[in-house]
Amino acid sequence: MRSGITLLIIVALLLAIIFSVLPRDDADTVNLYSSRNESLIKPLLDEFTAETGIRVNLLTGSGDGLLSRLQSEGRNSPADLFLTVDAGALHRAKSAGLFQPVFSSSLDSAIPSQLRDTDREWFGLSMRARPIFYARNRVDPTELSNYLDLADERWRGRICVRSSDNVYNQSLVAAMIAHHGEEETEAWARGLVANFARNPVGGDRDQLHAVASGQCDVALANTYYYGAMAVSENATNLETVRQVGIFWPAQQEEGVHINVSGIGLLRYANNPESAIQLIEFLASERSQAWYAEANQEYPVREGATLSSELESWGAFQADTLPMSTLGENNAVAVRLMNRAGWR
Ligand code: FE
Repeated sequence: MRSGITLLIIVALLLAIIFSVLPRDDADTVNLYSSRNESLIKPLLDEFTAETGIRVNLLTGSGDGLLSRLQSEGRNSPADLFLTVDAGALHRAKSAGLFQPVFSSSLDSAIPSQLRDTDREWFGLSMRARPIFYARNRVDPTELSNYLDLADERWRGRICVRSSDNVYNQSLVAAMIAHHGEEETEAWARGLVANFARNPVGGDRDQLHAVASGQCDVALANTYYYGAMAVSENATNLETVRQVGIFWPAQQEEGVHINVSGIGLLRYANNPESAIQLIEFLASERSQAWYAEANQEYPVREGATLSSELESWGAFQADTLPMSTLGENNAVAVRLMNRAGWR
């Protein structure tokens, strides 16, 4: 009798040990599709798991690739969340019917309303600005004012910008349309193209290097590329930062064009509760400060700590246009850029 009880206790203990080491069921796992580099999200996911016990499976890929994958997987998709960059890309996912709205008072208070979707289908997690960069030894910053002025003929042959098939420029043009109307924006785009120093080539980093090497005098680029160069140990990058200054345009007007990386809860998410918990974690004060420190992106959350590099660039007036507008105007912007000859 006594040995029977002992045996039962041993069996129960063994079962308890086995269950504790078995993989947790789906309820404790969130599947995240991300177009961001693993290094730009993984450390936060590990912290989330340590804090909550919820595991996160990360699948990275290109924004467009993941979007079509989600479309073809449909309701059978294992994904709970989709994270990508640029309001235009987030709007594309929303228009494809991939997201569902999230009602969270913590997200509503953490993220300013213009940095999330009007229907709460996606939320900005980090912010980047797209100011004017200039050659310190050839341009006096007092010559610069706003984006419209870059179409003035005194900039003839002096401007470097990447191609119009990139969503960053499409979003800038989408914002210009919202502020100045389609007609004025098209005239501006024609003037800008006439001022190009060369046919658009390369990414934002290449435009900054081109200013440093004297191929052009001003360029448009996202701030985190410049920030990454400034904190790198690469001599070419550091030299570019030494040669190139940041100018915050349109300070008396609409403000500097900004954009976001963002995340949405997928319509067919299997584990929406834990997925929402992860979004809230990414919007927390600690995660927000991490974005600034690790990637030189601006926190979306007001009052979150900036990195010393971001601090050194000074404060600026950011455009408060709702990010949703960038997506809504995207198609019109793309057609306009084509008409203006922006290749
Ligand atoms: Fe980028």
